[in-house]
Amino acid sequence: MKFKSINFTCKNCGAPLRFSPTHNTLECEFCSSKESIKKSTQEIKEYNFQEALQHLEHNDEHEINKEVKCSKCAATFTMTPYSVSSNCPYCGTPAITKFVKEITPKSLLPFHLSQKEAQTYFKKWLGSLWFAPSKLKEFMDGDKKLKGYYLPHWTYDSNTDTNYQGLRGDIYYVTVERTVIVNGRQERRNVREARINWTPVSGHVSNFFDDITIGASKTISHTILDRLTPWHTDVLVPFNPKYLSGFDSEEYTIGLDNGFEFAKVKMDNIIRRDIRRDIGGDQQQIKHINTRYSNTTYKNVLFPIWTAEFKWNNKTYNYAINGQTGKVTGERPYSYVKIAFLVLAIVVFVGGALYLEENQNLLNSLDEINFHLNVQ
Ligand SMILES: [Zn+2]
Ligand SMILES: [Zn+2]
Repeated sequence: MKFKSINFTCKNCGAPLRFSPTHNTLECEFCSSKESIKKSTQEIKEYNFQEALQHLEHNDEHEINKEVKCSKCAATFTMTPYSVSSNCPYCGTPAITKFVKEITPKSLLPFHLSQKEAQTYFKKWLGSLWFAPSKLKEFMDGDKKLKGYYLPHWTYDSNTDTNYQGLRGDIYYVTVERTVIVNGRQERRNVREARINWTPVSGHVSNFFDDITIGASKTISHTILDRLTPWHTDVLVPFNPKYLSGFDSEEYTIGLDNGFEFAKVKMDNIIRRDIRRDIGGDQQQIKHINTRYSNTTYKNVLFPIWTAEFKWNNKTYNYAINGQTGKVTGERPYSYVKIAFLVLAIVVFVGGALYLEENQNLLNSLDEINFHLNVQ
């Protein structure tokens, strides 16, 4: 399908303008002229979730390849189905098209960190990886490796009322006679032992959740996007295509209803924490919970993210940097050679006498290292 694209041009020299995170304006890459983006006074609204679900047609899953004609060089190129803005692959001019989904973002967080600043956060993070292969360290010295995306997110507000049933465990102590070994001889002695008394409990907790954010893109999974939180949604600005100029952007591929299912999981964790507190005692078991959600509202927003891709040993590692706060996340490749050398060094250092005992500790600490590498 053919799509028109727009771009913004410099009043001074006619070259394309791009959004500059450093100046929070449009900037000409040719003559450095700046053009401020008029601050809108439009308020950032919340939208009724139930109403939206009723009106949504559930047939907007079809993919439309957008054929876009560059307004500068007149070349035609294809954008991926969910892309809204990109740069012309032939002349580099920003191309901004329109959203096709039923719900469009009414607000966004503009890029706050420039590519250079994001690169600094990224290098610092990579530098903190002990076992990173040297190739990765070389990679981080290269510039222009980061690509800026505005990625779609849902935010949800909700009031929850939860009824629960469970067990409260209170510890008490009893004195019992046990056979113990004293100086190699068996003896009967009285010892104190802990027991738990479980009592059935039930109750009710209420919560209010404000702006639970859920990534709605398939380019970067919502689990990776989760690790970029928190987003400071108090500084959202009304949508304006000028902020997209020069950046790639996407519309949602995780629907409003599916996004809310992910939000429920996040809310459930907090509700369960509150239930445990409500039950009290020394230990708690939650047997059954039933949550009612009311006054649920949502927003569809775009958040700024710098991304990088690192290919090593036939595997691609993805990185993402929060374009507002500089928080970095990604998979950590590590060099087995470096780990092997470390193990060898520790074994030599520890020496013969302590070998067996320390070896166990070493194995434990390696397990920990593995654990950390896997969860990061
Ligand atoms: Zn200019
Ligand atoms: Zn072009």
